[in-house]
Amino acid sequence: MYTLNDLQNDLEILSSQGAEIFDIGYTLLGRPIPCVFKGSKSGGQTLLHASIHAREWVTTPLVIEMMKNYTGTRGVWCVPMVNVDGVLLAQQGLQSIPEQSLKDFLLEINNGSNNFSLWKANARAVDLNVNFNARWGEGAQNVTYPSPANYIGQFPFSEYENMALRTLTERVKPSVTLSYHAKGNVIYKGFGCIDPDVECAQRIADSTGYPLLDSSDSAGGYKDWYVATFQKLGLTIEVGDNDTPYDKLIDFLPQIYEHNENVLNIATECAQKN
Ligand SMILES: [Zn+2]
Repeated sequence: MYTLNDLQNDLEILSSQGAEIFDIGYTLLGRPIPCVFKGSKSGGQTLLHASIHAREWVTTPLVIEMMKNYTGTRGVWCVPMVNVDGVLLAQQGLQSIPEQSLKDFLLEINNGSNNFSLWKANARAVDLNVNFNARWGEGAQNVTYPSPANYIGQFPFSEYENMALRTLTERVKPSVTLSYHAKGNVIYKGFGCIDPDVECAQRIADSTGYPLLDSSDSAGGYKDWYVATFQKLGLTIEVGDNDTPYDKLIDFLPQIYEHNENVLNIATECAQKN
Protein backbone atom coordinates (compact mmCIF):
# COMPACT_ATOMS: atom_id res chain seq x y z
CA MET A 1 0.00 0.00 0.00
CA TYR A 2 1.08 3.58 -0.63
CA THR A 3 -1.07 5.81 1.56
CA LEU A 4 -1.77 9.53 1.82
CA ASN A 5 0.68 9.51 4.76
CA ASP A 6 3.40 8.11 2.50
CA LEU A 7 2.62 10.85 -0.02
CA GLN A 8 2.86 13.55 2.66
CA ASN A 9 6.24 12.18 3.78
CA ASP A 10 7.47 12.16 0.20
CA LEU A 11 6.27 15.73 -0.36
CA GLU A 12 8.37 16.79 2.64
CA ILE A 13 11.39 15.02 1.16
CA LEU A 14 10.80 16.74 -2.19
CA SER A 15 10.46 20.07 -0.42
CA SER A 16 13.76 19.53 1.41
CA GLN A 17 15.34 18.85 -2.00
CA GLY A 18 14.18 22.27 -3.19
CA ALA A 19 10.90 21.43 -4.92
CA GLU A 20 7.96 23.80 -4.46
CA ILE A 21 4.92 22.16 -2.83
CA PHE A 22 1.51 23.83 -2.86
CA ASP A 23 -2.18 22.93 -3.04
CA ILE A 24 -4.20 23.46 -6.21
CA GLY A 25 -7.58 23.21 -4.47
CA TYR A 26 -9.68 20.87 -2.36
CA THR A 27 -11.58 17.65 -2.96
CA LEU A 28 -15.31 17.23 -2.34
CA LEU A 29 -14.50 16.23 1.26
CA GLY A 30 -12.22 19.21 1.78
CA ARG A 31 -8.89 17.41 1.48
CA PRO A 32 -6.09 19.47 -0.11
CA ILE A 33 -4.90 18.40 -3.57
CA PRO A 34 -1.10 18.82 -3.58
CA CYS A 35 1.18 19.81 -6.46
CA VAL A 36 4.96 19.58 -6.82
CA PHE A 37 6.97 21.96 -8.99
CA LYS A 38 10.61 21.56 -10.02
CA GLY A 39 12.79 23.47 -12.49
CA SER A 40 12.39 26.88 -14.11
CA LYS A 41 9.10 28.66 -14.82
CA SER A 42 10.42 30.20 -18.02
CA GLY A 43 10.27 28.24 -21.26
CA GLY A 44 7.90 25.42 -22.16
CA GLN A 45 6.39 23.64 -19.16
CA THR A 46 5.40 20.00 -18.59
CA LEU A 47 2.41 19.04 -16.43
CA LEU A 48 1.68 15.52 -15.24
CA HIS A 49 -0.95 14.06 -12.96
CA ALA A 50 -1.76 10.67 -11.45
CA SER A 51 -4.49 8.87 -9.51
CA ILE A 52 -7.43 10.65 -11.13
CA HIS A 53 -8.92 7.14 -10.98
CA ALA A 54 -9.07 5.83 -7.41
CA ARG A 55 -8.02 2.22 -7.93
CA GLU A 56 -5.02 3.30 -10.02
CA TRP A 57 -3.22 4.75 -6.95
CA VAL A 58 0.04 2.95 -7.89
CA THR A 59 0.55 5.86 -10.30
CA THR A 60 1.09 8.21 -7.30
CA PRO A 61 4.33 6.60 -6.01
CA LEU A 62 5.38 6.26 -9.67
CA VAL A 63 5.17 9.98 -10.45
CA ILE A 64 6.65 10.83 -7.04
CA GLU A 65 9.69 8.67 -7.89
CA MET A 66 9.91 10.40 -11.27
CA MET A 67 9.84 13.81 -9.58
CA LYS A 68 12.43 12.84 -6.96
CA ASN A 69 14.80 11.73 -9.70
CA TYR A 70 14.17 14.66 -12.03
CA THR A 71 17.25 16.86 -12.10
CA GLY A 72 16.54 18.85 -15.26
CA THR A 73 16.23 22.64 -15.38
CA ARG A 74 12.99 22.77 -17.40
CA GLY A 75 9.75 23.33 -15.52
CA VAL A 76 7.70 20.30 -14.38
CA TRP A 77 4.41 20.47 -12.49
CA CYS A 78 3.10 17.27 -10.94
CA VAL A 79 -0.27 16.61 -9.29
CA PRO A 80 0.46 13.18 -7.79
CA MET A 81 -3.02 12.38 -6.43
CA VAL A 82 -5.90 14.22 -8.08
CA ASN A 83 -8.62 12.01 -6.60
CA VAL A 84 -7.54 11.98 -2.94
CA ASP A 85 -11.01 11.04 -1.62
CA GLY A 86 -11.34 8.22 -4.14
CA VAL A 87 -7.90 6.78 -3.38
CA LEU A 88 -8.63 6.73 0.36
CA LEU A 89 -11.97 5.05 -0.35
CA ALA A 90 -10.34 2.41 -2.57
CA GLN A 91 -7.66 1.72 0.05
CA GLN A 92 -9.61 1.97 3.33
CA GLY A 93 -13.29 1.61 2.44
CA LEU A 94 -16.01 3.58 4.21
CA GLN A 95 -13.89 4.38 7.27
CA SER A 96 -12.35 7.11 5.11
CA ILE A 97 -15.75 8.79 4.71
CA PRO A 98 -16.68 11.22 7.52
CA GLU A 99 -20.46 11.53 7.05
CA GLN A 100 -22.99 8.75 7.66
CA SER A 101 -25.30 9.88 4.82
CA LEU A 102 -22.41 9.74 2.38
CA LYS A 103 -21.34 6.30 3.69
CA ASP A 104 -24.90 5.05 3.06
CA PHE A 105 -24.94 6.50 -0.45
CA LEU A 106 -21.55 5.01 -1.39
CA LEU A 107 -22.38 1.61 0.11
CA GLU A 108 -25.52 1.45 -2.03
CA ILE A 109 -23.61 2.45 -5.19
CA ASN A 110 -21.02 -0.24 -4.35
CA ASN A 111 -23.72 -2.93 -4.14
CA GLY A 112 -23.53 -3.18 -0.36
CA SER A 113 -19.86 -4.13 -0.26
CA ASN A 114 -17.24 -2.39 1.86
CA ASN A 115 -14.56 -3.56 -0.57
CA PHE A 116 -13.93 -0.45 -2.71
CA SER A 117 -10.63 -1.68 -4.20
CA LEU A 118 -12.06 -1.49 -7.74
CA TRP A 119 -13.60 1.98 -7.27
CA LYS A 120 -12.58 4.49 -9.97
CA ALA A 121 -14.76 7.50 -9.16
CA ASN A 122 -14.53 10.30 -6.57
CA ALA A 123 -16.56 10.50 -3.34
CA ARG A 124 -19.64 11.66 -5.30
CA ALA A 125 -19.45 8.56 -7.53
CA VAL A 126 -18.45 10.70 -10.53
CA ASP A 127 -15.69 9.30 -12.77
CA LEU A 128 -13.39 12.33 -12.99
CA ASN A 129 -11.84 11.23 -16.26
CA VAL A 130 -15.12 11.37 -18.16
CA ASN A 131 -16.14 14.73 -16.64
CA PHE A 132 -13.96 17.02 -18.80
CA ASN A 133 -15.44 19.20 -21.49
CA ALA A 134 -14.43 17.27 -24.61
CA ARG A 135 -17.19 15.28 -26.28
CA TRP A 136 -18.61 15.04 -22.78
CA GLY A 137 -21.13 12.20 -22.47
CA GLU A 138 -20.31 10.69 -25.85
CA GLY A 139 -18.10 7.84 -24.61
CA ALA A 140 -19.26 4.31 -25.36
CA GLN A 141 -19.11 3.26 -21.68
CA ASN A 142 -20.48 6.49 -20.19
CA VAL A 143 -23.35 6.26 -17.70
CA THR A 144 -25.61 9.04 -16.45
CA TYR A 145 -26.14 7.91 -12.85
CA PRO A 146 -23.75 7.64 -9.87
CA SER A 147 -21.54 4.56 -10.24
CA PRO A 148 -18.15 3.12 -9.17
CA ALA A 149 -16.96 3.98 -12.71
CA ASN A 150 -17.98 5.82 -15.90
CA TYR A 151 -20.51 8.32 -14.47
CA ILE A 152 -20.02 11.59 -16.38
CA GLY A 153 -21.41 13.89 -13.65
CA GLN A 154 -24.18 16.46 -13.95
CA PHE A 155 -22.23 18.72 -16.31
CA PRO A 156 -18.60 19.08 -17.50
CA PHE A 157 -16.27 20.23 -14.71
CA SER A 158 -18.96 19.63 -12.09
CA GLU A 159 -16.28 18.22 -9.75
CA TYR A 160 -13.91 20.22 -7.51
CA GLU A 161 -10.95 18.00 -8.38
CA ASN A 162 -11.36 18.72 -12.09
CA MET A 163 -11.93 22.44 -11.55
CA ALA A 164 -8.62 22.52 -9.64
CA LEU A 165 -6.79 20.69 -12.44
CA ARG A 166 -8.33 22.96 -15.08
CA THR A 167 -7.30 26.11 -13.17
CA LEU A 168 -3.73 24.84 -12.80
CA THR A 169 -3.55 23.91 -16.50
CA GLU A 170 -4.88 27.30 -17.61
CA ARG A 171 -2.37 29.07 -15.35
CA VAL A 172 0.69 27.00 -16.32
CA LYS A 173 -0.21 26.69 -20.03
CA PRO A 174 1.93 23.55 -20.35
CA SER A 175 3.33 22.50 -23.71
CA VAL A 176 3.16 18.80 -22.83
CA THR A 177 0.84 16.94 -20.45
CA LEU A 178 1.08 13.36 -19.18
CA SER A 179 -1.90 11.62 -17.58
CA TYR A 180 -0.84 8.53 -15.63
CA HIS A 181 -3.34 5.67 -15.42
CA ALA A 182 -3.32 1.89 -14.90
CA LYS A 183 -3.23 -0.53 -16.52
CA GLY A 184 -2.25 -2.09 -19.89
CA ASN A 185 1.30 -0.89 -20.70
CA VAL A 186 0.15 1.34 -23.54
CA ILE A 187 0.16 5.04 -24.43
CA TYR A 188 -2.76 6.91 -26.03
CA LYS A 189 -2.36 10.10 -28.03
CA GLY A 190 -4.54 12.54 -29.93
CA PHE A 191 -8.20 13.50 -29.75
CA GLY A 192 -10.51 13.16 -32.73
CA CYS A 193 -8.52 14.34 -35.72
CA ILE A 194 -6.21 16.53 -33.59
CA ASP A 195 -2.84 14.80 -33.28
CA PRO A 196 -0.11 17.23 -32.16
CA ASP A 197 3.62 16.42 -32.25
CA VAL A 198 3.48 12.76 -33.20
CA GLU A 199 7.28 12.67 -33.35
CA CYS A 200 7.66 13.52 -29.65
CA ALA A 201 4.84 11.17 -28.72
CA GLN A 202 6.72 8.39 -30.49
CA ARG A 203 10.02 9.28 -28.78
CA ILE A 204 8.35 9.08 -25.37
CA ALA A 205 6.63 5.81 -26.26
CA ASP A 206 9.88 4.30 -27.56
CA SER A 207 11.63 5.14 -24.27
CA THR A 208 8.97 3.25 -22.31
CA GLY A 209 8.66 0.24 -24.59
CA TYR A 210 4.87 0.75 -24.60
CA PRO A 211 3.02 0.86 -27.93
CA LEU A 212 1.61 4.25 -29.00
CA LEU A 213 -2.04 4.14 -29.98
CA ASP A 214 -4.61 6.61 -31.29
CA SER A 215 -7.62 7.23 -29.11
CA SER A 216 -9.92 8.86 -31.62
CA ASP A 217 -13.06 7.56 -29.86
CA SER A 218 -11.98 8.79 -26.41
CA ALA A 219 -14.35 11.23 -24.63
CA GLY A 220 -14.43 13.40 -21.53
CA GLY A 221 -10.87 12.74 -20.34
CA TYR A 222 -8.25 15.26 -19.21
CA LYS A 223 -6.04 14.40 -22.20
CA ASP A 224 -9.01 14.83 -24.54
CA TRP A 225 -9.83 18.25 -23.09
CA TYR A 226 -6.18 19.38 -23.07
CA VAL A 227 -5.50 18.32 -26.67
CA ALA A 228 -8.79 19.79 -27.92
CA THR A 229 -8.33 23.08 -26.03
CA PHE A 230 -4.60 23.75 -26.42
CA GLN A 231 -3.80 21.65 -29.52
CA LYS A 232 -0.55 20.48 -27.94
CA LEU A 233 0.90 17.11 -27.02
CA GLY A 234 -1.11 15.28 -24.36
CA LEU A 235 -0.56 11.61 -23.58
CA THR A 236 -2.40 9.08 -21.45
CA ILE A 237 0.11 6.55 -20.13
CA GLU A 238 -1.37 3.28 -18.86
CA VAL A 239 1.11 1.41 -16.65
CA GLY A 240 1.14 -2.15 -15.33
CA ASP A 241 0.26 -5.57 -16.69
CA ASN A 242 -3.41 -6.25 -17.34
CA ASP A 243 -3.06 -9.56 -15.49
CA THR A 244 -2.08 -7.88 -12.21
CA PRO A 245 -4.93 -6.91 -9.84
CA TYR A 246 -5.05 -3.15 -9.11
CA ASP A 247 -4.11 -3.55 -5.44
CA LYS A 248 -1.09 -5.70 -6.39
CA LEU A 249 0.40 -3.30 -8.96
CA ILE A 250 2.45 -1.70 -6.16
CA ASP A 251 4.51 -4.93 -5.98
CA PHE A 252 5.71 -4.15 -9.50
CA LEU A 253 6.56 -0.48 -8.92
CA PRO A 254 10.31 -0.93 -9.59
CA GLN A 255 9.62 -2.52 -12.99
CA ILE A 256 6.96 0.09 -13.82
CA TYR A 257 9.39 2.84 -12.86
CA GLU A 258 12.06 1.41 -15.16
CA HIS A 259 9.72 1.71 -18.13
CA ASN A 260 9.04 5.35 -17.28
CA GLU A 261 12.41 6.60 -16.05
CA ASN A 262 13.22 8.61 -19.18
CA VAL A 263 9.75 10.03 -19.79
CA LEU A 264 10.29 13.35 -17.99
CA ASN A 265 13.62 14.04 -19.66
CA ILE A 266 12.10 13.57 -23.12
CA ALA A 267 8.80 15.27 -22.33
CA THR A 268 10.55 18.37 -20.96
CA GLU A 269 12.75 18.50 -24.03
CA CYS A 270 9.64 18.32 -26.23
CA ALA A 271 7.99 21.03 -24.11
CA GLN A 272 10.89 23.36 -24.85
CA LYS A 273 10.22 23.16 -28.60
CA ASN A 274 6.43 23.30 -28.50
ZN1 LIG B 1 -7.59 5.41 -15.38
